[in-house]
Amino acid sequence: MVAKVISGREVAETILTTDLKNKVLELNKKNIKPKLIVILVGDMKASASYVAQKEKFAVKAGIESDIMRFEATVTEEEILTQIDNINNDKSIHGVIVQLPLPDHISVTKVLNKIDPSKDVDGFTPTNVGKLFLGEDTLVSCTPKGIMQMLASTGTNLSGKNVTVVGRSNIVGKPVAILCLQQHATVTMCHSRTKDLNSKLADADVVIVAVGIPKFINGDQIPEGCIVIDVGIHNIDGKLCGDVDFESASQKASAITPVPGGVGPMTVCALIENTIIAAERIG
Ligand code: NDP
Repeated sequence: MVAKVISGREVAETILTTDLKNKVLELNKKNIKPKLIVILVGDMKASASYVAQKEKFAVKAGIESDIMRFEATVTEEEILTQIDNINNDKSIHGVIVQLPLPDHISVTKVLNKIDPSKDVDGFTPTNVGKLFLGEDTLVSCTPKGIMQMLASTGTNLSGKNVTVVGRSNIVGKPVAILCLQQHATVTMCHSRTKDLNSKLADADVVIVAVGIPKFINGDQIPEGCIVIDVGIHNIDGKLCGDVDFESASQKASAITPVPGGVGPMTVCALIENTIIAAERIG
């Protein structure tokens, strides 16, 4: 079997230029102009390129986005003060802090400072708690984008076996909850999982977010499963994921590529969250 490639780039483009653009036009009629602020500390090359993609996607959907830049030496106090200002600024609907932050700044303190109604990354305890409870909330972007990609394949997850490899707070855990909400049977794997291959053997969907290049290969997955590869690595100037695309694409029925898979969907979800926040805040 040769897998269908699920193009996150194409799914994102469609969502941005149809659904989201129309929503923005409706908001504009009510004089609401969705606006996203990205807080960028230091000058990490990877962060800068993610931020550039966020700006590009914001333009596609017709929302405003601004970058608030700080030197790597900025104090934690200064960042917290700026977040306070953003929380109180009625013209701003969404804010994210580009991670990682320098060691002298507490990520927990910074994220906890963000008003949950403007937390378009869905990282605050309030929004994570609401997700856990199945309440309406701003869902974190990578898991949200993954669910949209799965939906684009027409797969009904009810009763399906989903194996998630990786249990991070930003990918593995929330995507497992979202799959549970769609009535999948979810198996969570991590670094202490014994016999990972047996957990993959009867999976209908495999979601991999481990942060190890080509960690899963075609021999480990069952024929016909759907593979979502969250990882992104630059190996000698060439990008690859946590899955060995070449071998896995010979076994899977559908697979996400790297680049052009989960990455663009994550950014698209961020723009969508900003629009949702604007609809709610007004
Ligand atoms: P983390 O490092 O936070 O988590 C990695 C997870 O993988 C942990 O739960 C860890 O287990 C598990 N793990 C590590 N080694 C093994 C192993 N040998 N067997 C099974 N599980 C293992 O990573 P993230 O979730 O933040 O990111 C994962 C990848 O996805 C990275 O490459 C990252 O760059 C990428 N990413 C891409 C995004 C995108 O938009 N495309 C967005 C976010 C992340 P344990 O908990 O036991 O340590």
